[in-house]
Amino acid sequence: MALSPLATGAVTLPVEARKLRQEVRDFLAEERAAGTILGRPDSWLTGWDPAFTRRLAERGWVGMALPQEYGGGGRGNLERYVVIEELLAAGAPVSAHWVADRQAGPSILRHGTEHQREFYLPRIAAGECFFSIGMSEQNSGSDLASVQTRAERTAGGWRLTGTKMWTGGAHINDYAIVLARTEDSEDRHAGLSQFIVDLRAPRIRVEPIRLLTGEHTFNYFHLEGVEVGDDALLGRPGDGWRQVTGELALERSGPERFLSTLPLLTALVGQLQRAACSPEQHGRVGRLTARLASIRQLSLGVAAALEAGRPADVQAALVKDLGTRFEGELVGEVREVLPVAARFDATRGTYPELLAAAILHSPGYTLRGGTNEILRGIITRGLELNS
Ligand SMILES: Cc1cc2nc3c(=O)[nH]c(=O)nc-3n(C[C@H](O)[C@H](O)[C@H](O)COP(=O)(O)OP(=O)(O)OC[C@H]3O[C@@H](n4cnc5c(N)ncnc54)[C@H](O)[C@@H]3O)c2cc1C
Repeated sequence: MALSPLATGAVTLPVEARKLRQEVRDFLAEERAAGTILGRPDSWLTGWDPAFTRRLAERGWVGMALPQEYGGGGRGNLERYVVIEELLAAGAPVSAHWVADRQAGPSILRHGTEHQREFYLPRIAAGECFFSIGMSEQNSGSDLASVQTRAERTAGGWRLTGTKMWTGGAHINDYAIVLARTEDSEDRHAGLSQFIVDLRAPRIRVEPIRLLTGEHTFNYFHLEGVEVGDDALLGRPGDGWRQVTGELALERSGPERFLSTLPLLTALVGQLQRAACSPEQHGRVGRLTARLASIRQLSLGVAAALEAGRPADVQAALVKDLGTRFEGELVGEVREVLPVAARFDATRGTYPELLAAAILHSPGYTLRGGTNEILRGIITRGLELNS
């Protein structure tokens, strides 16, 4: 069997990227001293801090791979990679701009009209415009082509009706990109379209779904006959499936798929450094670190492939499968290496609290962005096609 679809090759970061890493570390050290970073797991999901986002944007670290003519940084994906891996490793509060930076901006750049690009992209890069993903529904998660949300033609645009589920940040973001059926078709992947919907528009109702921790990040997002203009359509009508699939590749391969619980490992190392560390503890931390390094190399390979315009969907699925299993298993390992009573009500940022947060967030790691069973289907098909 040929393994070529999984081979990404070794990646050497450009000199500019290494210099940039130091700049980000200096910035993070200042922020840490100011108390804005608690090093919490899953900070790209729960770390909502628009002021922090704007400080990043002032340095050109939001929308940094968007073209300069639309207010972006005009920098490469590998440079962006370095910035986001430093932010995630530190557990910095980046959730406000996460979706806008990772996928809404690139999608609008790729499929949007000139007007949409000029309207949204500069605001994304300024850290002033935040997006949600409006894909999943009660009975449409893995099988996204079965979405029930409909968009019907009206005189001046479209009317959207349906309920999205698990919509992160719908209660605090500005817009959602909604996948809706615009036409019935025998081919269930045809007849879908994407719309940019203002989350404060009339006839939108947002209903919280609490995490196990009690935190509010998710929502039901009801579209009760929401009227939008023609300018809300993103891309061509009926092209939604192709667009969504492209978006998922961006969503699956980044360092957030294996770094969500790294702040916990960092906290463990801090604890071990304060006490005498046994050879067994040493060995277990070493094994975790080695595993992390190999997944990171694969993820960097995907970033380099995307930068060079090469398809990397199969490798992206592999990164997400290996990475999300790693970040979950890390929590169990850490718990065994240094057992303490995990307590979500302990002081924020302390080891027992970080451990509790990571444990309670764990069930989501292998689900969000596509479950591991679905990803393994993609990997298998990729291997078969290339064998
Ligand atoms: C933390 C988190 C954040 C999320 N944020 C968002 C968001 O912001 N916006 C959004 O739109 N969605 C979001 N989601 C939803 C996420 O994309 C879905 O949960 C995911 O796609 C799985 O869909 P589902 O929950 O409906 O499970 P289902 O699709 O019902 O799957 C249930 C189980 O069946 C398995 N299964 C299903 N089909 C197959 C198959 N063909 N072969 C083998 N096994 C199969 C799955 O692997 C899974 O184990 C989020 C989810 C989580 C956990």
